[in-house]
Amino acid sequence: MDKNRRHFIQKTGILATATGLAPQLFFANTDRTSGKLGVALVGLGYYSTEVLAPALQLTKHCELRGIVTGSPEKVPLWQKKYGIADKNVYSYDNFNTIANNPDIDVVYVVLPPGLHAEYAIKAAETGKHVWCEKPMARTVAECEAMIQACKEAKVKLAIGYRCQHDPNVQFFQKMGKTRPFGLPKMISCTAGYVDLRTDHWKQNKKLGGGVMGDMGVYALQSARMVTGEEPIMVSAQASTTRPEIYTEVEETMSFQLTFPSGTIASCQSSFGTRTNNLHVAYEKGWLKMDPHSAYSGNKGKLSDGTLIDFALPNQQAAQMDNDARSIIQDTSMLVPGEEGLRDIRVIEAIYRAAKNNCSVAIP
Ligand code: NAD
Repeated sequence: MDKNRRHFIQKTGILATATGLAPQLFFANTDRTSGKLGVALVGLGYYSTEVLAPALQLTKHCELRGIVTGSPEKVPLWQKKYGIADKNVYSYDNFNTIANNPDIDVVYVVLPPGLHAEYAIKAAETGKHVWCEKPMARTVAECEAMIQACKEAKVKLAIGYRCQHDPNVQFFQKMGKTRPFGLPKMISCTAGYVDLRTDHWKQNKKLGGGVMGDMGVYALQSARMVTGEEPIMVSAQASTTRPEIYTEVEETMSFQLTFPSGTIASCQSSFGTRTNNLHVAYEKGWLKMDPHSAYSGNKGKLSDGTLIDFALPNQQAAQMDNDARSIIQDTSMLVPGEEGLRDIRVIEAIYRAAKNNCSVAIP
């Protein structure tokens, strides 16, 4: 053990004892001087650039230490802005050598969904913990392969469902378990924004485009959280008002879910209109959230006058800190791969229902 590490463990051993964790477990994989996990972002597009990298600067337990990109022209800017060392810059071709880099503890896959499985599995094989953006992957089979790869490599897998780390969302998620207003009877939920791009992965089937995985998944998530149940039957209608752009995937998906208790959810998602709200009619009251799955400002009201409006400085920072804590303390991820898989199972059924214009049972 080198001197710095020994000094660090000695210095912080009290904390480890206080948390009931063995020092070697608590500090496994953490940086020797800062105690933070080193995160490498894979894919430097909109979400990494505009949202995750800035959010990482606000975290307590993470540090942006690495980047993986196919665009060399982006590298100097990222290095300058975030002080990323040359040895922590990777291309997709040499990505697997990240295995030998002790600076990196977590690989965060922020690529188009069609590439999630490939890179999450590669990341697991390097022995790094894996965070992966939503939707988890294109198919149930891909999700299962990702979960299996992380199990075999003995690394943790978390899906970037930022909303599940938001106290405003956790509020109605908890109502799904405690049911203070009785059973939810009817749910209505929307998620959409106007996407004017004409040649993007969101319009490309192979890369995992289509509004269902991108925005529909938020409506699906909220419906599942409100009920605390898994849907057993779906029906769906896919459509586009811009057939010249949406040639391979849907611009709009409307879907209906039936839950085991008999609750029915009616959900709409679209790349053609800005919408984000959730209405729930319970046996003995109602909930209205507007918005229910935004980056910030999720808020709502209950029929008894209760306001849901918890402050949250940065949703993504909360997500990454929670996930880092689960790694540091070796506890379960709040949103593990199995949760991403649950949605993809429903989404597969939704696509079947839309294609065949029928109801599809989910086993
Ligand atoms: P983007 O198009 O802006 O960025 C995608 C990145 O992947 C680009 O840097 C691109 O160069 C790279 N890439 C590598 N190989 C590619 C290929 N073959 N085709 C296309 N791009 C390729 O997309 P984004 O909006 O940053 O989305 C990335 C991921 O983050 C997606 O999974 C998306 O669903 C997710 N996301 C999540 C949230 C959230 O709120 N959780 C928000 C936005 C995006």
